[in-house]
Amino acid sequence: MTAPSSGQQHQYACSSCGAALEFQPGTSSMKCPYCGATVAITTSADSTKHDYVAYANVPHALVSTLPAFTVSCRNCGSPNTTTAVAGRCQSCRGAIVVTDDCGGELKSPDGIVPFAVDQKAASAAFGTWSSSRWFAPNALKKVRTTDSMRGGYLPHWGFDDKTTTDYSGERGEHYYTTETYTENGQTRTRQVQHTAWYPASGRVSRDFVDVLAPGITTPDAETLEKLGPWSTAGATGYESEYLAGYDVPRYSVMAEAGFGYAKHEMQQVIEGDCRSDIGGDEQRVHSMTTYDVDLLFRLLLLPLWFATYVFSGKTYAVYVNANTGKVIGDRPWSWIKITLAALAALVVIGIGVYAYQQGHRSSG
Ligand SMILES: [Zn+2]
Ligand SMILES: [Zn+2]
Repeated sequence: MTAPSSGQQHQYACSSCGAALEFQPGTSSMKCPYCGATVAITTSADSTKHDYVAYANVPHALVSTLPAFTVSCRNCGSPNTTTAVAGRCQSCRGAIVVTDDCGGELKSPDGIVPFAVDQKAASAAFGTWSSSRWFAPNALKKVRTTDSMRGGYLPHWGFDDKTTTDYSGERGEHYYTTETYTENGQTRTRQVQHTAWYPASGRVSRDFVDVLAPGITTPDAETLEKLGPWSTAGATGYESEYLAGYDVPRYSVMAEAGFGYAKHEMQQVIEGDCRSDIGGDEQRVHSMTTYDVDLLFRLLLLPLWFATYVFSGKTYAVYVNANTGKVIGDRPWSWIKITLAALAALVVIGIGVYAYQQGHRSSG
């Protein structure tokens, strides 16, 4: 295994004051956090997609086994050893894009979904979310300050697939019969529903574009699914300038595993297509054979804001989808607030019981 080279680092110095420039969400510019100078980013090419079959036919080293990079910060000279693709210097907090090509073994990103939600809007969305959480501790509500939200990108695989599926199953049609029965010595009638099943088969097609599969395992797939959906239609070509000042982990889920995930997602959609093709009142799908044409993929970076906070010695994370403003978070339950609420409920029940007893006493 070739050790990834460490000479691809990007740090963009402000021409006025020399500080490290940072990407400015909602724009296509970098901005100096100290003097406010801006520099436009030139995006040289559109986001590219690649032939998936050709890629998957070649073995790839597991990204989790690739060594970390060591780069020395051009701002302060400190060495940084990291597996991240971009982040901040551990000493001076200056923005560093570590690499955009890890010796060729780590695939370079093919596109970036732009930030539609800036840090201020993310903070406001988080504030609304946290204040509407029942029994949330005050520690959660304090995270609302703008400074505690950090920006990052989540690597995801996007798959295009033109599918044709031959299926066989059954179509169920409802019919009703009249039954007689006896109740309290009286003879009555009622309508009873039955289903008649008929064989059904056919062919459905669908053109999938950018079916997303997580390229990382933290946050977990369930959290990411809740954080979605993401619109990838506006994805731009990759330029390392868009990463300056943002946390970008290496992907750790290989494209091959991502394809398995995406296939499963597609299968659910295709089964729905088969059911609507079968029609009737109920459907059974017994078999589906799917043919893939024009399988393409790309590595996309999806934007988010996140914050972590500690409550009772445990770390919790909250995420804001920077594409849609949707907020997802781990939240602890404040047992003090729950206990107070439970006591208040008991008082209400107690008053109710007392009133009921009083009512019975006066009528009895
Ligand atoms: Zn400056
Ligand atoms: Zn530094």
